[in-house]
Parts: sequence; C-alpha cells; structure tokens
Amino acid sequence: MGVREDAAAIAGELAELRHAIHREPEIGLELPLTQAKVLDYLDGLPLEVSTGRKLSSVTAVLRGGRGDGARRSVLLRGDMDALPIAEATGLPYASRFEGVMHACGHDLHTAMLAGAARLLSTRQAELPGDVIFMFQPGEEGYRGADVMIGEGVLDAAGPRPVAAYALHVSSTQYPCGLFATRPGPMLAAADIIRVTVRGRGGHASQPHLAADPITAACAMVTALQTMVTRRFDVFDPVVVTISSFHAGTTDNVIPDEAAFLGTARSYSAAARDRLRENTIKIINDLADAHGVEADAHYVDEYPVTVNDAAEAEFARAAVADVFGPARSILKTFPMTGAEDFSYVLQQVPGAFLSVGAVPLDRDPATAPSNHSAAAVFDDAVLADGAACYAELALRRLGIA
Ligand SMILES: [Zn+2]
Ligand SMILES: [Zn+2]
Repeated sequence: MGVREDAAAIAGELAELRHAIHREPEIGLELPLTQAKVLDYLDGLPLEVSTGRKLSSVTAVLRGGRGDGARRSVLLRGDMDALPIAEATGLPYASRFEGVMHACGHDLHTAMLAGAARLLSTRQAELPGDVIFMFQPGEEGYRGADVMIGEGVLDAAGPRPVAAYALHVSSTQYPCGLFATRPGPMLAAADIIRVTVRGRGGHASQPHLAADPITAACAMVTALQTMVTRRFDVFDPVVVTISSFHAGTTDNVIPDEAAFLGTARSYSAAARDRLRENTIKIINDLADAHGVEADAHYVDEYPVTVNDAAEAEFARAAVADVFGPARSILKTFPMTGAEDFSYVLQQVPGAFLSVGAVPLDRDPATAPSNHSAAAVFDDAVLADGAACYAELALRRLGIA
C-alpha cells in the first residue's frame, strides 16, 4: 500500500489524538499534557526519543535501515502550542480550559507529525537515511524553534539535515486539502515598535506652557505611515501598524506621557534593517522637533521565513505527484504572518507549506481565520497532512 492509503487507514486515530490535544490546549514553552500525549502515541515505535530541558519539546529520530555510508537526514517540524483565546466554536471536542484555545491549528500539526512518525516507522527498513521529528512548543511568540535549535535539534541525527519542512493549516482562504508554497519569502519578519514619549504636563488651556506628548506621539504615528510609502520599494514592502496608543486622563489636563505600541513587518533582511533604523530615527527626530523626549525601542522578533527555491519547488512537485496537480499551488505573494520555523530555515534549506483546512460547509473566502475564537479546522486534512510529511521525507531521502 502507498503512504496515502496507509495514512487514510490511521485517520481515525489521528483525529482522536488531535481532539485530545484540542480539549487540553497549553500555551508557551511548557506543554506537559500535550507532550505526554505525543510520547504516548510514539510509544512502541522504533524511534530515538528525547525531550527538551528548557521546554517540553519532543525530538524523535528514526534511523533508516538502508544507508550508503554517508548518513543523511530530513527534519519535519510540527508545532504544538495554543493561544490565549476563549474558544467559541461549539465543537464537541472544544477546549476544556477557560481562555485557552488551539486557534492556530497546531493541534493538527502535532497529530499529522505523529502520524508521519508512524507511517515512516513501518518503512524503516527501506529508508536510506534518517528522519528527525521536531515536536515544538512555543511557536506563538516564545521562539520555541530557536530554543530547540539551542538544545541541538538540528544535530539530533548527527550531521545537519539536508532539508527541513513544516506544514501549517489554514481555517480560511484555501479550500480543504489544497497545499500552497512559494520560493523565497513565505512569511514576514515580525518586530515590535514600543515608544514612550515624555513631555511636560500642564493645564490643557495653556499648551504653550507645557510640552504636549500627545501631539508629538500623533506626529510620530503619522510619520511612520509616511515612511512606509516614501522610504521603501513597493516590491520589497513593509507593514507598520500602531495598534495600541495610550495617553491622558481627562479633558483639561495635558499629561506627562504618551505611549504607543505596534508591529513592523518586512520580507527581506535589507528592508528589515532599514525599517529598524528609520523607525528609531524618525521618532527621535520628531521628539526633538516637538521638545519632548522619546524612549523608542525596535524589538526584533521573528525573522523572515525564507523558503529555499529548490526545496519549495521539490515540495510543490512532490505534493502534485501525491495528491494531484490541482491540490498543489504556488503562491504569488508571501503571507504577512510570521513563524519561528524561520530560525530553522536560516540554518537548513527547506520549505514551509500552507494547507487548506476549511470545513466543507464553510466558504474559504469568509470562514473565520486562524487566531479567531470561531476558527474551525477540518479533521479531513489530518491523513493527507501526515502523508505529505512522510512523502516529503521519503522522496527527499531518495525513495519515490
Ligand atoms: Zn498562529
Ligand atoms: Zn501557527
């Protein structure tokens, strides 16, 4: 039987695993309940399993039984963490934990990767190389991938992997079962702009005797938007959104301080450097012009997720071969979200693939997106997701 058929045969147990994880979602780097479920599922498979020290990760290595002397490996990554969202799906397997939800579909990734470990384990004898299964906590803002790299996941099989792949489900946009990737930038770098403007408060009727932090901060927010259109190439774009702005207490008092916070997204290292530099300069120069002081921070978060061109094409072609060309598309544009799989792709060539998981009774154009309290991901993609992971590893190691 082929990998797809074998995957279809374990669809039920993958759905069960996914539902169990979904019911008990956990946030951040410590996911003990999720880790236990993964370890339980992998128990009995011919894997070298290790767990993280600073986080509840699981690294499993499958040693191929056929080698030509020079060992090669492929890394497959699935993230496992949830979000601080109160679930509003009404699903029978909805979260039991108040205010925590698997709203980004990482429960599916965990189940798919566990399924791939099972599928590949049954093919261990014929595998001409090794496979590293990277079960990762803390994708949602905790740099879990970076921490796992620090703990040696890329060296788990010996030499560095020749390729790394990650799947990510989407509850919107793509029809169920569609795989999408692209060469080059796939997801944005996401950084944080954090500014406190310190002026001199006073009576609101006498602004000339005060140093108004609000007008200065407003000028900064507007100037940052002008910077986006005047300082950056439209074909290497950036996004700046100031999403939090706080100052003052009442109508007749000029406050001492104003503070704002926002996100800065970019798609190349060069644009990111310019964005960091220009943002700080504009804020400081405007503070000077307004006679106030600014405490401006540009905080580097996740880097750009860059797919290797050859690996993206390899993955696209493999998916087209396994599932049919209609289910494998090349994305025209990158996405504005960000991923810490970017840290893996900085060191190992590979590709990140989006997978449509919109339930059949929803319209992909209007279905609630990932991170929505109403986001629903269809179990129907679990078997094909597991098969996709397994096929990418098999084919990359040289078995078609
Ligand atoms: Zn997410
Ligand atoms: Zn995610």
